[in-house]
Amino acid sequence: MTIFGKIIRGEIPCSKVYEDDLVLAFDDISPGAPCHVLIIPKQEGIQNLNDVNASHAALLGHMLVTARRVAELKGVAAGGYRTVLNTGNDAGQSVYYIHMHVLGGRDLAWPPG
Ligand code: AMP
Repeated sequence: MTIFGKIIRGEIPCSKVYEDDLVLAFDDISPGAPCHVLIIPKQEGIQNLNDVNASHAALLGHMLVTARRVAELKGVAAGGYRTVLNTGNDAGQSVYYIHMHVLGGRDLAWPPG
């Protein structure tokens, strides 16, 4: 069980930004920008993009729609923001429960480190 699995099950708290039937969005505990929100599916068992297939297309699309909503809720939509899914060791993934980062509120360097 990952830490995000425990958050989804309500076993540990989070700072909730948005929730619906499919996803939960909450503030990153160690923010890398003024807006740093994580969006996770309520469906458990997807570690990262390497686990997804066509059956997950609607869910992944919903995560992107949620990113836009989160950006608006956090006031960064107009200024711009970045969505990131880290997949695997080389990308620095630390929690193996698929999640989308929404980062904004400052200039973001490109390419990332
Ligand atoms: P990644 O490196 O892409 O796997 O991102 C995992 C993210 O989860 C990191 O940015 C962490 O700061 C964040 N994180 C870890 N534990 C928690 C937690 N309990 N609540 C909120 N964010 C967390």
